[in-house]
This record gives sequence, structure tokens and C-alpha cells, in this order.
Amino acid sequence: MTNEVNSLPMVALRGMVVLPGMVTHFDVSREKSIEAIEQAMQENQKIFLTAQKDIEKENPGMNDICAVGCIASIKQIVKLPKKISRILVTGETRARMDCMEYDEPYLRANVVEVADIDNAEEAVGAKENPLNMEAMLRGLKDLFREYLPRNPKLSKDLALQMEEIKDLRRLVDEIAANIPLSWENAQELLEEPDVLKRYDKVVGRLVSEIQIINIKEEIQAKVKERVDKNQREYILREEMKIIREELGDDNTMSDADEFQEAADKLKAPAEVKEKLNKEIKRFKNTMGNPAETGVVRTYIETLLEMPWDNAGRDHKDIAYAKRVLDEDHYGLEKVKERVLEFLAVRALTKKGDTPILCLVGPPGTGKTSIAKSLARALKKPYVRISLGGVRDEAEIRGHRRTYVGAMPGRIATGLKSAGVKNPLMLLDEIDKVSNDYKGDTFSALLEVLDSEQNSKFRDHYIEVPVDLSEVLFVTTANTLQTIPRPLLDRMEVIEVSSYTENEKMHIAMEHLLPKQLRRHGLKPEQLTVSRRAVWKMARNYTKEAGVRQLERKLGEICRKAAREILETKKPAIHVTERNLHLYLGKELYTYQMANASDEVGIVRGLAWTSVGGDTLQIEVNIMPGEGEILLTGQLGDVMKESARTGISYIRSVSAAHKIEEMFFKEHDIHIHIPEGAVPKDGPSAGITMATAMISAVTERRVRADVAMTGEITLRGRVLPIGGLKEKLLAAKNAGIRTVIIPQENKVDLEDISSEIKKGMEILPVSHMDEVLKIALV
Ligand code: ADP
Repeated sequence: MTNEVNSLPMVALRGMVVLPGMVTHFDVSREKSIEAIEQAMQENQKIFLTAQKDIEKENPGMNDICAVGCIASIKQIVKLPKKISRILVTGETRARMDCMEYDEPYLRANVVEVADIDNAEEAVGAKENPLNMEAMLRGLKDLFREYLPRNPKLSKDLALQMEEIKDLRRLVDEIAANIPLSWENAQELLEEPDVLKRYDKVVGRLVSEIQIINIKEEIQAKVKERVDKNQREYILREEMKIIREELGDDNTMSDADEFQEAADKLKAPAEVKEKLNKEIKRFKNTMGNPAETGVVRTYIETLLEMPWDNAGRDHKDIAYAKRVLDEDHYGLEKVKERVLEFLAVRALTKKGDTPILCLVGPPGTGKTSIAKSLARALKKPYVRISLGGVRDEAEIRGHRRTYVGAMPGRIATGLKSAGVKNPLMLLDEIDKVSNDYKGDTFSALLEVLDSEQNSKFRDHYIEVPVDLSEVLFVTTANTLQTIPRPLLDRMEVIEVSSYTENEKMHIAMEHLLPKQLRRHGLKPEQLTVSRRAVWKMARNYTKEAGVRQLERKLGEICRKAAREILETKKPAIHVTERNLHLYLGKELYTYQMANASDEVGIVRGLAWTSVGGDTLQIEVNIMPGEGEILLTGQLGDVMKESARTGISYIRSVSAAHKIEEMFFKEHDIHIHIPEGAVPKDGPSAGITMATAMISAVTERRVRADVAMTGEITLRGRVLPIGGLKEKLLAAKNAGIRTVIIPQENKVDLEDISSEIKKGMEILPVSHMDEVLKIALV
């Protein structure tokens, strides 16, 4: 059969290849193809079938057609509507087309049959060992048997048919004819005369086909499982709903649905959503256990209310901020300036880089109020968290949910009530926090304020990390002494100092009174308070560094006035210095003035405490004894040391003051600070004590109108002190004429308003000798 040229009618197949041994059918509609079939029927029913390279071509030329095709014999022709014929053929032999000719009206091809190169037996050494060939056959059959049940289109009988085949070539061709192949793959097989190579290709195809089917099955199983689960859950849920409705208990379900809806809508990190979904599931399952349902419900509600990814926009207009600060506060120039500088820096740097503001000063000086204004200036929500008296870490960090009545800590609660993740949060009275056995409050606060850690702040109750990195923290304190160093390091301290009487008067007239009038429903024309009355109130009815009591007193006047207006139908009330006592009763404070006369062993010192400046009187008595030193009254440790330093100094200069050598051996010295309930610490009473002692020892009197402040060294040098403004203010209020201050504090005087300095002689000194020269009569 080789090399014999056959001329056969041909049909170019589109998208399919017929292989030898294959029984298949195809439809033809092209005129040329139908004619070719008919011609073939007239000849010996043989037709040359070959694949068209480009499926779209209507009239393919020689180059558009694969040269290798298959000679097939036509078994049946079925005429279908629309001039379509369905042809059933059996593929017989491979053939190569030599040339193609157009024999009107159909195509013919001169083809040469391609013989198989069947050297399989030799290649596997079948002669020497027939089992080799058997192994090849069986390998392919096994693969096919594995494949067969996976392809539902194939008949089960095929396996049996294949079992029968003993010839490798036939087996390869049969199997190739029965597995799904793309037309390109089939063409490759067709063009391969070498049986062994075809064997490899078919085995490769079968193996990958089996793998593909396996993977497909796996995926399908997974999908099915998922669908089944969803379906199952859906049905169960529906059933549960009905059961619950039957029981008249469908609230929880609708709550759960509402929670789910809210959770889906919530703008929050994935971690939070995951937690919520878990809890909602738990909520559904806790039905019938009201106690637990309640706990889970509160938790879910808390999570839903937290402002996870909800942020407000910062208002960065510094001019606007200045206007707001000025509007809300009288004076405080330095403080406002610092706050504005802080805002400017904040506007220019990234969030998290700016330090935390800490406003330090005595009570009632407007610290809280400045923070509130700041929030207004930035158009940020404002939350105030009072830390005064917080001793338990859980107050900051919350309780774990396992506790009965557990709640989130104050920080998380504050954030929740702010409703955005970047509010201004005022941590009020941070100096009043303390530690007890229930954990470390300070380290919790440190975590809140540390920009490195606070983006993942852990609240025990909330459980998922809360992002505090965008919160603008402002803290207030009365004193820095009780704030631990690491916490202080993270804060930018701005000092707010006591007000003078003049400042108090202005604040009262311009801010406090209008505020109180509004609060009590009074019109400005219904109640007026004269400047002198306010002055008197500040002086004789209040004793404070700030203006809180003053505000309270104004409130008292408003209340009384409101009642009077209603009772007596008076159109307006004027409060003056003269009728003030009708509203506030008798004066509460008559200023303890300078000592009436010069005395021995009594000296007035100036002290600075967390609530402002004060004067303190130091008394020293000398008694016959054995050289003991007695200290009584409100004394801190630092003060005791100051006392001892003072004594050592005096002993070292005893000769100059004509004190006998044995004096300190034969006498006891008793130092006492009689007045004041506030512990007066700080080293600034050194020169005061030394002066009092020298006066007592030498029995020289001390001038009654002198007050002093300054620390002393062993050699009598006077060292600088803090809180000068507060001290001078206290001295002025006490009617002191002469104030002795350390030389090094002289520069601070520039910053102090002339209102305070007026009427007082302020004398800077650098050595104890100078002090004595001024103070002793
Ligand atoms: P602090 O927080 O320092 O203890 P607050 O901020 O509570 O003091 O101030 C007490 C009251 O005094 C507030 O009503 C505040 O508005 C008012 N106040 C304090 N200082 C000023 C000021 N400089 N101008 C206007 N009002 C002030």
C-alpha cells in the first residue's frame, strides 16, 4: 500500500480530526463538501478527511489545510434540514496529501498512505521477553480503566473491548479515538507514524486527563460542601426562627439580625469584624440563658459603638484657633501663645509626632477650660477623663469580660462617647493618679500616651486593639512632682499660674458673670455686679489661686437675685461693695496681715504649693537642754534637711555673731511652722529658718514687714527657687512691704506683672549675710 498515490474526494474538517479506528460523525453544509461526499459515495465510499488550520476560512487553499489527514469510509449519510448532511464515518488509515485539485464542483486530493512505524516490539525487546510488551499493554489498559468511570460519556463496555486487544498499535489508536482531545492534540497523534511515540502521547494525555478530573472533582466536592453547609444553616436558622416565634420569643433573633446588619455596615478593621461575627454567633447560641445573653449583648453593642475607622477632619486654621482662645479666656497670654505654637507644629508634622500637652497650675486657673477651647478651635469632639483618685489599672484598661459587671476602661469609654477616633481627650489631674496592689496604673497610662504603642492599645474588656494614635491628648496637673519621670518625658509642659486680683476681676466681669447669668436664666440688665464688689469678693470671700470659688460665689449671687426678682418684682438688681454682704453673708477671710510688731525668732517665709502661693510663719524657740533639735508642724522631708543645713551654717558662723561655743551643747532648738494645712515641702524655706534661728539664738528682733524665700547652702550661699510669681502674689496679699529673693531669681522679675510688684520692695540677695542685714532690726 505504500507510496501508492490515490486520488480521493476530500473534505476539510473544521475543529475536528478523525483518527484511524475512530467511528464518528460530522455535519457538512458547504456545497463543495456535500458534493465531495456524494462523489465518494459514487466511487468506493472512501474520502480523505483533513483538518483546516483556520476554522473561519470558507474556501481554504492548500496551505490552509493540514497535509496529514485520514482516509475514512463513509457509513451513513443523514440529510438534516437547511441543507445540512450528517455523515457517519470510520477512520481507516493515515495519509499525506501530495496535492489538492479543484475538480468542479468539489475538491480532490492526491494522497499517499502513511505507514505506521511499528518497531515497538523491537524497542521493548519483546522477542527476548514477551512480558515487556504485555507490561506496556497492561499499563495503558490500567490507565484507561482508571479513566473510564470518570468519563460518563464513555460506555462501560469499552473496557472489555480494550481488554481483548493484544496489539499495541490498535490499542493506542482505539484509546486515542475514545478520549477527549483538542483538535490540535488529535492532529499531533495523526501526524505521528511512530507507534511508540503515539503510545507515549496517549499515556501522557490519559494521565493528565485523570489528574484534571481528580482536581475538578475535589473542587466540586468543596463547593458542594460549602453550599450544603450554607443551605443547612439557612434551613436550621429558619426553623429556629419559627420555633422562637411559636414560643413568642423572637426578639433575640431580630436583635441578632440587627447586630449582623450593623456589623456588616461598620467601618472597622478586619480583626474587629471577625470578633463581632464570632460574638454575634455566640449571642444566637446563648438564647435561653438571659444572664449570658445580656453580657454578650453589652459586649457587641460596645464594639459596634466604638469609632473604629471613623475619623473627623482636623481644622488647621491657626487664626481661627487664636480667635477662639481669645474669646474664651481673658489674659493667659503666654499660655495661649504656647498653645498656638503647639498647634502650628502639629499642623506641620505628622500625627503621632507631636508631644502631649500638659497644663500645670493651681486649681481653677482655666486649664480644663483651655483644653475645651482647644477642641473648639480644632472643631474636634472633646472628652474629659478625670483621673483624680484613679488607683486601679482596670479603671484605665477595663476589666476582663469574665468579671461580673465588667466594663471597658475610661479611655475606651471616652473614645466611644466621642464617636470619632481622633477627638481631643483631656486627661484631667494626671498628677492625682496612684498605684495600688491592683496593678500598674502608670504603665497603663504610659501605653496610652506613648505614640509608639498607642496604635494598638489593649483594653481588657474590648479585647481587640484600639487605635489611639490619632487622639489629641491634653493632660492637666496641679504639680509635676507626683508625675513619674517616663510619663513626664512624653509631655510638653505649659505652666498656668495664679491670677492677680486685677486678673480675677477681669475674668469675673468678662467671662464668669455672663456665664452665670446665662446659666441662671437672667438677662444682663436684670443683674449687675460692680467692679468693686467683685474685687471684694476675690479678696474677702475667696482665697484661691484660680477663680473657681469666685465663680461659685457669683452663682450664689445669681440664685439669690433670681429669687429676689421673682418675689419682689424688682426689674433689676445691682450688687455693689456695700450690699454684697446681703447676698454672700459676712466676709470669710480677713487678710492676715504682716505681723504687728517685730519679734524674736519669728520670720515670715513664702511657700509655693500645688494650690498656689502662701506665706508661712516660722517660729523658733531656744530652751536650756542638751543640744537637741525639735521640728514640729507641717514639715516635709526636704524642709527638715533645710533646717539642719541652717543649724550647721549658724554653728559655722557662731563666732561672727558672738555666740558662745557651748551654746549649742547646752540648749535645745525647737522649730515650728504653725499655720496651714497643706504640707509645705520644697527647699525654699532655708533662709527663713536660718534667719529665725539666728534671731532666736542672738535674741535680735526680726522686721515684721519682711518676707523671704530662698534655699541656703552650708556656707550660707542663697540658691534660687521656683514659683516666684505665686510667692510674690501671696506676699502682696499678706501686706508685706519688703521681700527678699535669691539673686538668681532676679531675671524672673521681668515676667511678673507690675500689678504684683507695685508697692513692694523686692531685694535680691546672694548670701545669708545680706539677708540678716535686711531682716534683723
Ligand atoms: P482648672 O482646670 O485649672 O482647675 P477650670 O478650667 O475648671 O480650672 O476653670 C474654672 C473656671 O474658671 C471655668 O469656668 C473657666 O472657664 C474659668 N476661667 C479660668 N480662667 C479663665 C480665664 N483666663 N478666662 C476666662 N475664664 C476663665
